[in-house]
Amino acid sequence: MQSVVVPGLGQPWELRSADVPEVRAGQVLVRVHASGICGTDVWITEGKLSFGVDFPMRLGHEGVGEVVAVGEGVTARSVGDRVGLLTLQSGCGTCAWCRRAEPLDFVTAANCAQPVLTGMNVDGAHADYVAIPADATVPLPDGLPYEHAAPLMCIGYTAWSGLRRANPQPGERIAVSGIGGMGHLAIQYAKASGLTTIAVTGSPEKQELARQLGADIVVATGAELREAGGADILLHTNSSNSAAADALQGVAPRGRVVLMGIGFDTFAVPNMPMIMNSLQLLGSAHNGTRYLVEALRIAAEGKVTPMVETYDKNRAAEAYQRAADGKARFRSVITYA
Ligand SMILES: [Zn+2]
Ligand SMILES: [Zn+2]
Repeated sequence: MQSVVVPGLGQPWELRSADVPEVRAGQVLVRVHASGICGTDVWITEGKLSFGVDFPMRLGHEGVGEVVAVGEGVTARSVGDRVGLLTLQSGCGTCAWCRRAEPLDFVTAANCAQPVLTGMNVDGAHADYVAIPADATVPLPDGLPYEHAAPLMCIGYTAWSGLRRANPQPGERIAVSGIGGMGHLAIQYAKASGLTTIAVTGSPEKQELARQLGADIVVATGAELREAGGADILLHTNSSNSAAADALQGVAPRGRVVLMGIGFDTFAVPNMPMIMNSLQLLGSAHNGTRYLVEALRIAAEGKVTPMVETYDKNRAAEAYQRAADGKARFRSVITYA
């Protein structure tokens, strides 16, 4: 088989030959059909994030494909099943965090002493085949193409988790700031929930796109958001903390601000609107597999369609560069098989 390898820090991705992994007890062997390139993949390649793993490494935590073999003891998955791969395969099971029996979510990934993370500290999905515990897969709903399912495994999952975390109520208004990989999905998920959806973007070329994606109202700044009636929920989807602080000016009294885009600087909260309007500030990422399953189902119903650029595995280096340069509209997805 072939897999995409990051040869060393900051080096271009390469397609290399590899052995098909052995499928052990409790695992399934998945023939990967599509694997999205997440911002995290870029940061690991560039050395901004590290999970203590040496290069060369095989990234990829937005993998989807077909089960082609099952290991001993596996009953929940069968050959031929279409599945997606979870980022967090398991906690270590023995640390203080794991003894609390917490769910397989991002908080466990961040707090377990030795979490097993697909495409981070174990081989990921940028490959023809990957072996993974059956419990770390979710069934893909019928009718959802692989190249659309792939980005839902991380950014789509994050977008929907953040919306659910804000606990929207009937009649509320939801604003999405940042129209990129996550934001273009968050707009669609908000609209699919029947909520008045407002896009906040300072990019003129993205304002028309935001309308096409379902935004009822499009504004450029937090001040414009306030003038347009405000939002009960603000989903901030990129890593620009200054944009989040600006958009916060348009959050309605007792509103919720959900930060979902990982960044490396500090979010400076404007004190007055925060306190005088009794706002809640929430962090959110992958909040539990049930939300991933919901996100996939909503997409399979045709209510959310990721915009992707697909690249055959032979063009993996090009796909990576588009993602690294922030030019992908809106996700680079590598296709296999
Ligand atoms: Zn990701
Ligand atoms: Zn643990």
